[in-house]
Amino acid sequence: MVNEQVFNSLIQELDAQNVALIAVSKFKSTNDIAQLYALGQRDFGENYVQELVEKNQYFLEKNICTDIRWHFIGHLQRNKVKYIASFIDTIHGVDSLKLLQEINKEAAKHNRIVKCLLQFHIAEESSKFGLDNTEAFEILEYVKAQHENFKNIAIVGVMGMASFSDDTIQVQQEFKNLNASFHLLKTNFHLANDQFKIISMGMSNDYALAIQEGSTMVRIGSLLFGKRN
Ligand SMILES: *Cc1c(COP(=O)(O)O)cnc(C)c1O
Repeated sequence: MVNEQVFNSLIQELDAQNVALIAVSKFKSTNDIAQLYALGQRDFGENYVQELVEKNQYFLEKNICTDIRWHFIGHLQRNKVKYIASFIDTIHGVDSLKLLQEINKEAAKHNRIVKCLLQFHIAEESSKFGLDNTEAFEILEYVKAQHENFKNIAIVGVMGMASFSDDTIQVQQEFKNLNASFHLLKTNFHLANDQFKIISMGMSNDYALAIQEGSTMVRIGSLLFGKRN
C-alpha cells in the first residue's frame, strides 16, 4: 500500500529543495508501483535484476506505466547487464571499469546511452561496495583517454550508502565525504556539458541529512511503501 499523504508531502519537501526522488520498489508489487505512478512518480529503483526484468515486462505487456524510468540501485554483476540494457535508465552502482565496459557494450547493441553513477564506499561497514577517490580517478582517466569506446554510457554523477547507524555525526561525515568526492571529480574531469551533476545519497532514515549535505537525488523505499517484508 502506498501512503498518498506521505508521498505528497515528501514530493513537496523535495521539490522545494530541487532534489529528485527515486521510489525504491524492491519487493513491492506492480500494483504498488502503478499506484505511485498514478500520483505522478516516474523514477523507480530496483535492486535485483530478475525482479526488475519481470516488472518491466509486466508493464510492457499491459501497456501501462510504459514511461517509467528504471534505476538499478543494487550490486550489478557483469553477466547480468545484458538483461536490463535494453530499458534501464540509470545504473547507480558502477564500481569497476569492467562493469562500465560491459554496460557500454550491451547498451550499444540497443543503440542506447545508459546513464551511470560511480558508487563510492563511504560507510564503515566493509560489506558495502564502492570505489575510493583513487579508483574513481583511474576509471575516469581511462574513459577520458578512450572516449571513442564509451559512446553508449554517460557518467552523470556519484552514489553512496552511509553506515546503518544512529550516529548522526558519523553519517553526516560520510555524506560530506561523498559530496567532496563528487566535487573533486567534477573539477578534475569537467565531464561533458555539465552532465555530471547527480549526487545520489539518502534513504528513508537519513535523507534529510543527506540533502543538508548536498544530495540531489534520494532513494526512498520503506517511507513510501511501508516497511520491507
Ligand atoms: C533498499 C535501498 C534503498 C531504500 O531504502 P529504504 O530504507 O527502504 O528507504 C535505497 N538505496 C539502496 C541502495 C537500497 O538498496
